[in-house]
Amino acid sequence: MFIALDEAARPVTLHSHEQAAGLSGHFSCPACRAPVGIRNGPVMPAHFYHLGPPCDASEPESAEHLAGKLWLMAYGRRRGFAVVLEQYYPQIR
Ligand SMILES: [Zn+2]
Repeated sequence: MFIALDEAARPVTLHSHEQAAGLSGHFSCPACRAPVGIRNGPVMPAHFYHLGPPCDASEPESAEHLAGKLWLMAYGRRRGFAVVLEQYYPQIR
């Protein structure tokens, strides 16, 4: 997942390895509020992951899935849309 909440409950969206390398502090899952960490390795796009068991709102995501979401975000922005990644709807999870 690319979205987490910072210590002030503000959403943080990961969009690059460089950005992720500069982040510090504690982050939590927007859906379940459990602590999440940042994975910033060479294979996958930088992303958040649950430090404990993942919640119902999260799902395993391949490198292609994550890269596809970033590509769609960039494409939408180039087309002039206000793009929101991973909007969470509690009613439908
Ligand atoms: Zn969660």
